[in-house]
Amino acid sequence: MSFTRQTDVLIIGAGPAGCVAAACLQQQGIRVKVTEKSVFPRFSVGESLIPRCMEHFAEVGLIDCIEAQGFEKKYGARFLRGEEVCLFDFSKKFTEGWDWTWQMPRADFDHTLAKEIMRRGADVEFGATVTDVRFTGTDSVTTVVDKDGNTYEWQAKFIIDASGFGRVLPRILGLERPAVGLPDNSSVFVHAKDSRRPANREGTLITFDIVKEKVWLWVIPFSDGTTSIGFVGPTDFVDDYGEDLHTALAEMMQLSDYYKDRFPPEEFLFTPRKIRNIAKAVTRLHGDGYALTGNSAEFLDPVFSSGVTFATESALRAAKLAARQLKGETIDWEQEYAAHIKSGMNTFATYVKEWYTGNLQTLFFHRPENLANKEKICAVLAGYVWDKSNPFVRKHKNIVKNMAHLLKIQAEAESVSG
Ligand code: FAD
Repeated sequence: MSFTRQTDVLIIGAGPAGCVAAACLQQQGIRVKVTEKSVFPRFSVGESLIPRCMEHFAEVGLIDCIEAQGFEKKYGARFLRGEEVCLFDFSKKFTEGWDWTWQMPRADFDHTLAKEIMRRGADVEFGATVTDVRFTGTDSVTTVVDKDGNTYEWQAKFIIDASGFGRVLPRILGLERPAVGLPDNSSVFVHAKDSRRPANREGTLITFDIVKEKVWLWVIPFSDGTTSIGFVGPTDFVDDYGEDLHTALAEMMQLSDYYKDRFPPEEFLFTPRKIRNIAKAVTRLHGDGYALTGNSAEFLDPVFSSGVTFATESALRAAKLAARQLKGETIDWEQEYAAHIKSGMNTFATYVKEWYTGNLQTLFFHRPENLANKEKICAVLAGYVWDKSNPFVRKHKNIVKNMAHLLKIQAEAESVSG
């Protein structure tokens, strides 16, 4: 049987984007319905945050519930290339803002957010999959199949699509497009026991280790003693392993001088998983009666851990604009939403691209370090990509490329003269 219910805003997905949007709309006294396909807690990648998202959680009052979980605190990030080390400390960054954040299993993190918004009265339904959306002017009718197979329809004045890689509206409305200019990467990952973890700061340090050209590992230790490990590489390279993901990950770990002894394959806690063709893009971020947020909008690459921050940045902004629209204001979505999100994304995308060209690595591993520049790059890596007073934001298109070029010329001159 199918019958129609009504809400002001329908949110598809209860990940970080969906929960932050719901929390914001609750604050504004707007009626919200969240439909979530999975039953929480559920596994997700994206286990290391960057400081900018703390502002979003703080604004909607979600910091205390997260803090209470005792997740591992993250104060920076380490990059390795063989013997070379580059350590970023978020307290030494150009832009003012949070200088720490968390690294944590997303099953627990996302469940914490969802439970908190439900405690405040949000209507979150788990096991409820959106299968279709029809727009009727600016209103919409969304078809949802619940966990018992019943079909409902929800009429809403606005939809916030926070469905992550489910990408509900991009698929239904034909908005998907290739992510031009970003590498076609895939990833293999697992959680591991980490019984050899050093008892000092080194043990909990989040690390990105370059093990081959264009292939890098992540190590994200959790406060419960387990650790997330994974690698990212070109899709062709990852596909060559076929379904033998255990061998793929074990082999990549063996290439890491730092970590090869710490994570023996017998300590993997489940069969490694794979996500193919990671980068995602859309032709538009909004339309009459809807906004795309988080991974349902665009996703760049796992390097530098920006995904959750863009998810919460976009979700919070979309929720605030939707609230104003529902209260009668006319919103210029292109200017107030799309332009803002694209400006931050484009800046961050430059750093992702320059990581894979090797130019950013040239800056990271050059010695002696240029500490003034490092603080500015650190602000970008912390997610403060809207601070135009930072030349590494303002001139992002050329600054990394040009500086790497200069360092290479300098190194060549020194090797000739020396
Ligand atoms: P999600 O967290 O994916 O939530 C979307 C929700 O929508 C899900 O719960 C899903 O079940 C639900 N849903 C889907 N379809 C439907 C439907 N039809 N009906 C109802 N509900 C639906 N980001 C970081 O910040 N740090 C990292 O270290 C990091 N590492 C990553 C590593 C890899 C390999 C990859 C691929 C990504 C990584 N990311 C990382 C990105 C991060 O995972 C995402 O950016 C983030 O989870 C996006 O949040 P979201 O709320 O948009 O979507």
